[in-house]
Amino acid sequence: MQKDPDSGRIQDLFSRHKLRCTSQRKGLYKALAANTGHPTAEQLYYEVSGHIPGMSLATVYNTLEAFCSAHLAQKLPGQGGSTRYDACVHNHLHTRCEKSGAVHDVPDELGQKMLKGLPRTLLRQIEKEMGFSIDYVRIELVGQHTSG
Ligand SMILES: [Zn+2]
Repeated sequence: MQKDPDSGRIQDLFSRHKLRCTSQRKGLYKALAANTGHPTAEQLYYEVSGHIPGMSLATVYNTLEAFCSAHLAQKLPGQGGSTRYDACVHNHLHTRCEKSGAVHDVPDELGQKMLKGLPRTLLRQIEKEMGFSIDYVRIELVGQHTSG
């Protein structure tokens, strides 16, 4: 067996989030965390099915659900009603390309500036008028790439 420096770290993370640790879960989490492209369950399945024994698409779905429930991952709306997954769980902004469907993280420094710049009084007004308590604001910037 190869020694994997990430293995212990992921195991600690799972135990902190009270998630049972299996080699399948560890393998999938590692693949998700390493993928900055906000993959769908299908994309992750194709990526890992060759090297995680016994991994089915259903297992990938169920495991991703378990990650989300344990706050180890978050779901993002993808193109055409698909769901994308992100191992980065702090509130950050995304861009989504309408042509390719690609989802990217907005650099944190800029994203936090945007979130901090939201008019608090307007948020309070929305809460008041709608009888709704806002926990956080999630922003998706939709458009298309002009370079690269
Ligand atoms: Zn992200």
